[in-house]
Amino acid sequence: MSVRVVARVRPLLKHELDKDTIVTASNPGHDDDASPTIVRIPNPKNDAELYSFQFNSVYDQAATQQTIFDNEVSPTVKHLFNGFDVTLFAYGVTGTGKTHTMRGGKTLAERGVIPRLLSSIYRRCRKIEKDTAGGTDVEVSMSYYEIYNDRVYDLFEPPEKRTPSGLPIRDNNGKTVVVGLTERPCYTLKEFEKLYDEANVNRSTSATKLNAHSSRSHAILCVKVTQTSQDHTLVSTASAIDLAGSEDNRRTDNNRDRLVESASINKSLFVLAQCVEAISRKQSRIPYRESKMTRILSLGQNNGLTIMILNLAPVRSYHLDTLSSLNFANRTKKIEVNEVENEPQFRGPPVSKSTAPISGPSLHR
Ligand code: ADP
Ligand code: MG
Repeated sequence: MSVRVVARVRPLLKHELDKDTIVTASNPGHDDDASPTIVRIPNPKNDAELYSFQFNSVYDQAATQQTIFDNEVSPTVKHLFNGFDVTLFAYGVTGTGKTHTMRGGKTLAERGVIPRLLSSIYRRCRKIEKDTAGGTDVEVSMSYYEIYNDRVYDLFEPPEKRTPSGLPIRDNNGKTVVVGLTERPCYTLKEFEKLYDEANVNRSTSATKLNAHSSRSHAILCVKVTQTSQDHTLVSTASAIDLAGSEDNRRTDNNRDRLVESASINKSLFVLAQCVEAISRKQSRIPYRESKMTRILSLGQNNGLTIMILNLAPVRSYHLDTLSSLNFANRTKKIEVNEVENEPQFRGPPVSKSTAPISGPSLHR
């Protein structure tokens, strides 16, 4: 059981080109040869003071979809075929690149980690079938659902056919299952893409029907790989989750429906962070049963790999939300004093490089 938390800072968008970049990726000890593992961001109350947060890896604006896939996701494919579950989350404020990272754009270069993962899975299937001269049969199937206000909706079901209360979940020999969830076999990448696109249309139409933006639901894709040979069957699942936006809705919009949504999003994201932290600290108790999402995913219960990609926007308009995201994903931050070189005037006493308690904004504490 292991977990990686990596941060990805998206580039400036067209309408942001005149804005300052306040979030930077840097290397430990400013060693140019090392890969970035640190995100730096100023204190919103004092630009000269920098907070730094350490991750397993940090990707800056120049990182391509290919790089993210090659470094973070591709290495998990062999574990998947060895029978371990793989879970990928995209966490972040709306507009920071979660859907771009997961699903991506239409061109080959813009494809996100999901289509790349599937492509890699099918390549491996064909290799296994060839290497075993047909002795091992590999089947791929998918289910795709969303969790909105703590209710589970099948994304293969058109929104008008949905039961408003969502699909029930039930315990089945210690495993939590969604009752009545569609599972569709997909034999080729083409088939997968067709089903995935269809289901994504249901996601956006349901978003308008429920008068909620898709940024308020968690979209969960599960890809089941079943390898059958003469004497045994090995089943494992890769799950890719485009999480609901982590922004603090109370700050921008306080209508009642929004507060209900906000409370259920906060709760599930909070439990998710606790699970990720417990797994990374190798604690024996993982609080996965405390939210529907972590429970259905059995997060931390199987001997699997979890990767959380923290999506960040580089601009000041996201400052407080970015800090909340960083605080949320990594509670061990440091403060540094920004050393300005060639600063001729000197006002007041020097500020010591202390690691005094931080009174910055923090969502969940
Ligand atoms: P979210 O799903 O977190 O709300 P999106 O994935 O929709 O955010 O991204 C917001 C906008 O930023 C989109 O227009 C998307 O194309 C663009 N974007 C996000 N990340 C990148 C990136 N790494 N490179 C180029 N454009 C990006
Ligand atoms: Mg999105």
